[in-house]
Amino acid sequence: MQTQYINEMLNLPELKICQIHLHNTEELHIEAEPVFSKQSCPCCKSDEAVIRKGRNEARSIRHLPVFDKKTYLLVPSIRMYCVNCAIGFVWSYDFVRPKQRYSQLFRSRIVEHALGSTAAHSAQMQQTPVSTVQDMHNKAVPMLSEQLIERAWEEAQEGSNLILGIDDFSIKKGHRYNTGIHNLRGATMLDVMPGRKLDDLRKYASEHPRFRMLKPKAVVMDLAQAYHTWIRECFPFAIRIADRFHVHGYVIDSVQEVRKSVQQTLMSV
Ligand SMILES: [Zn+2]
Repeated sequence: MQTQYINEMLNLPELKICQIHLHNTEELHIEAEPVFSKQSCPCCKSDEAVIRKGRNEARSIRHLPVFDKKTYLLVPSIRMYCVNCAIGFVWSYDFVRPKQRYSQLFRSRIVEHALGSTAAHSAQMQQTPVSTVQDMHNKAVPMLSEQLIERAWEEAQEGSNLILGIDDFSIKKGHRYNTGIHNLRGATMLDVMPGRKLDDLRKYASEHPRFRMLKPKAVVMDLAQAYHTWIRECFPFAIRIADRFHVHGYVIDSVQEVRKSVQQTLMSV
């Protein structure tokens, strides 16, 4: 088989393919070696005094499928030694972290799949144990979430005509309230802070200079005095808008009161 095409397909420039064999009808095993003969010492960062010191048992790394088959890369675990620093180390690959059995590309594919479906479905698609998919997913979520939050804040800072939304919510009705801060135009959530009292709000603003740096054109909120005071303090030039939902509530309450009082007079006639 022409290994150079497979090499291009795998997109792993650090490896050269030595042999490919069909392990069974479902599995493809690809034996590969590092392209370079030496690797820099992790201590002195130079490869001048580095020598090879034999091999440990080869590593078998699950990678993205080739020809729709489960694909494993068999790569040597080369022992290296830096004479200058007198330390030994094992060859490290860019495509897979030390001691892991799944390549980075495979892990990100799994996470991508699992985000749009269930872990069980993703596991079935990739022929991987569900627990492995869940584990990869759980490890990736905090990082993804951080990236998304960062992107949301950048958007809020850069976009002109920013409209913020401030609202309270409780996880369980009647329990402690939290306040959510949203970019209404961008439809993103920027942050959640505990509490909804003026002291809580002021504390948040003092601890979050990034929030104070925002330049909202308008802020939408309910009619709670604390929110209005707080927003006036933080963004004196922003228009404060009472959202329709709460205004509707007040209007309906007032109409009911008028109706009741008028109804009484009508009955007495
Ligand atoms: Zn060294």
